[in-house]
Amino acid sequence: MLKRVAALAVALGALHGTHAFAAPCLEVTLTGTQGGPPVFQGQAGSGTLVTYGEEETGCRDVLLQFDTGRGTTQQLSKIGVPVGRLSAVFFTHIHSDHSEGLPDMMQLRWHFNSAGPKVDMVCHEDAPSGAGHIMSCENFAKAIGAVLIQSGEMAQRLAENPKRLPGGPAELLNLMTFPASQTPQKVWEKGDVSVSAISSRHVPGHASYRVDTPAGSVVIGGDAGNDSPAPPRDTSTSAQVELLAEGADIVVHSVIHPVMGPDGTTGFPPPIYFRQSTATDLGGLSQRAGAQHLMLTHLIPPVGAPRQGPYPLPNGGLTVADYDAAVRDGGFDGNVVVGTDLAKLRLPIK
Ligand SMILES: [Zn+2]
Repeated sequence: MLKRVAALAVALGALHGTHAFAAPCLEVTLTGTQGGPPVFQGQAGSGTLVTYGEEETGCRDVLLQFDTGRGTTQQLSKIGVPVGRLSAVFFTHIHSDHSEGLPDMMQLRWHFNSAGPKVDMVCHEDAPSGAGHIMSCENFAKAIGAVLIQSGEMAQRLAENPKRLPGGPAELLNLMTFPASQTPQKVWEKGDVSVSAISSRHVPGHASYRVDTPAGSVVIGGDAGNDSPAPPRDTSTSAQVELLAEGADIVVHSVIHPVMGPDGTTGFPPPIYFRQSTATDLGGLSQRAGAQHLMLTHLIPPVGAPRQGPYPLPNGGLTVADYDAAVRDGGFDGNVVVGTDLAKLRLPIK
């Protein structure tokens, strides 16, 4: 009898083990879908959470945040992700609409997790521009607590609790910069999860990322656009993103609707229009790459918005169908998600 119980226990253990490894999953959540610096109906700033794990743990063994726009910490709290659980944050570029949530996020960690662990902050190394300025993710990282140090708040809180890190929230970041590269390079990995990056054009230091896991792969294009800053060109999308997206399951990408183009009547500045990827061209890219899912985020203009910042839409706000139709014009026949805050996809699809 004892032997039979033991044998059953071994069999159950084997079954459990098999099951645990047979059900890896990848989940992609749009933490914020606002396009650019404007605000509209409380939408959060640009960001994407990618998590990987077992179905039994809600795919949450490894948690990666790509960009941290306005309100990212609150968005994560809505889906039960404390900022202390993030393994790493990645930045496509350091425009404020993609990065301004980081000081908030890291100050919260400083308050309650000063003992660590640190969070990996992965971004492009300093990138000089032709105009003489330098886009520096490193300087941004070092300065995230600067206003709190200047105001005296840091000193006051340290006087209350000296166990906190004396240098403020910047000390909780483990900065990992990578050099420019026109081919994918591995920039981070943990267990079965690997992240690669490629330099892409939008502003100096812009990068796009790909996460590969046994449950699937996702590309985070960011605000990438074509290396040719204006027509004539074959497409508004980035050749580097297309290379990175080859064979990926999901493409997440910032989008601009063709209605904002110079042929329209919005008055939107053409150079800003041309440095984004259009919905139609993203449809073409996703089809050529063989992706099954295209998640549009950072929508310019937001669905339903009567204007993008100061630029009105003379024919009224766009609909989900307007974005979907523009993607289909590009030839994409997969699944299109016209992003809303906290929209998500999980692989494998059930
Ligand atoms: Zn942006």
